[in-house]
Amino acid sequence: MALAKVVPGGEIPVFLTAILSHLALDAIPHGDTGIGHWVHSSPDRKTKLSRLLPMSIADQLIALIVFLILLRSPAFAAVPLPLLLTGAIGSMLPDYLTGIRDLLQRPPSWLETLHRLHDRCHFHDRDPFSIRGGLIFQALLILVSIFLAWR
Ligand SMILES: [Zn+2]
Repeated sequence: MALAKVVPGGEIPVFLTAILSHLALDAIPHGDTGIGHWVHSSPDRKTKLSRLLPMSIADQLIALIVFLILLRSPAFAAVPLPLLLTGAIGSMLPDYLTGIRDLLQRPPSWLETLHRLHDRCHFHDRDPFSIRGGLIFQALLILVSIFLAWR
């Protein structure tokens, strides 16, 4: 949404920079390493889905609530809704693609390639955050962004 406000040129530049912002931010440790190991260590596909889907649904609900809060804020009042949606969707697209890849038994090679690129952007050293620490860190970032948008 912030990129939609500052990146000139319309939906395509906003969409592309939003995707790049996701990949850049994934390089910062944010406590999801443990969650990834937990999901991918599932003994079977059914268990994997039972771990992945509730988390994804919760993630999307939180994203929607934060989007709606920010949408009503003074910071984004003058930004057209299609641009804000483009920024929001672009910023989440790499995770959608990886999620779809995780759900497919035989993902197409182009999807596997995009997933590998996405995965390569992730922070891969020892994550300084536990899952709880990462959730607190991310919640604080969300609260700060809401605070700044309403200032
Ligand atoms: Zn990601």
